[in-house]
Amino acid sequence: MDRRRFITMLLATCLLPSFPALAASSLARYTLDETGGGASFVIELDGRPEHHVFTLDHPPRVVIDLPNVSHVTAPSVAHQGTGLVRRVRTGERNGGIRIVLDLETAKSPQTRMRRLDDGHSQLIVSIDDPDPLMAAVTAEAQSHGQPRKAIIEVDAGHGGKDPGCISADDHYEKFVAMGVSDALKEKLNEDPRFEPSLTRDSDIFIPLHQRVLMARNHHADLFVSIHADAAPSQSASGASVYILSEHGASSAMARWLAESQNNADRYASTRDSNIYSDDPEVQSVLVDLSMRGTNIASQKLATETLDSLSRVTRLHNHRINKAAFAVLKSPDIPSMLVETGFMSNRDDSRRLRRPEHQQELADALHSSIASYFDNNPLRT
Ligand SMILES: [Zn+2]
Repeated sequence: MDRRRFITMLLATCLLPSFPALAASSLARYTLDETGGGASFVIELDGRPEHHVFTLDHPPRVVIDLPNVSHVTAPSVAHQGTGLVRRVRTGERNGGIRIVLDLETAKSPQTRMRRLDDGHSQLIVSIDDPDPLMAAVTAEAQSHGQPRKAIIEVDAGHGGKDPGCISADDHYEKFVAMGVSDALKEKLNEDPRFEPSLTRDSDIFIPLHQRVLMARNHHADLFVSIHADAAPSQSASGASVYILSEHGASSAMARWLAESQNNADRYASTRDSNIYSDDPEVQSVLVDLSMRGTNIASQKLATETLDSLSRVTRLHNHRINKAAFAVLKSPDIPSMLVETGFMSNRDDSRRLRRPEHQQELADALHSSIASYFDNNPLRT
């Protein structure tokens, strides 16, 4: 096998979103609105399941894959096929649901996910811009509406068969990470500015690249991975904060370019379109620009975090650390990894296991996330 093909296959394997963690229990309902020239296809979903939207030709169609959705309910009145969408078909595919919209003419859809207050969400697939004036009015109205919540992806490190670092008295990092993540989720839930989203909420194993994909699927604005350290010297102690190193950024960029060019359908028609172009050279510039911006944002977040952590714990390193950690490799989601202390240090490990200290760490992380967004408000 030549090297390039091998790398491509390797990437495909690493990035394959299999999501064994998510149960196939969601229920989808859909409606189709064809007033105004275009078509708006809205699917109501439990939670925020993974979704892939792409187009196929001959005949032109939009395909919506929902791998973790087990049932789909059609509207009470079947769609007659009067406008741009000729027919809506649904079927099972690999244990999930596939919805196909047969189109009158080829169009590229716009996709967005909208959160509803009751825990449901809507996947909105808009085909064709109905009326430019109406679109502008709608965008204007939305920008003056309620500011949306920032979605914070909280990633408890390790889990399942991977215990992480183990202390001398046999305590596992994965449980410390889970405890702090849980406490942070609670803090974020209480704050109306934020919506927490978790890569895991139980003791399960999730591969690293899948955690990055989960953050993307949850449309996260920020990614925070929580860990605890270990060192050969038992005297090493205190917290550290990591962001992606330059070397990590360039390897992430190569991976992203290869993966997106191999799955052009998917990347051209999802939120990834702002870092996707049919032209590989243009795309390389887009990804590069995006990664630079993301890196600056990650540095600001990490600076706030070191500052707030220093009020509740010792710092192992007062500077931001840089490493090529796989979970930090989102090209457009500011990301950091927090080592909350050392499992290999007796005092740290004892404190890290105490719920009170986990709470303090979560408070510190919450306050640094809040001041990050105070200084860098979400763009709507
Ligand atoms: Zn770890």
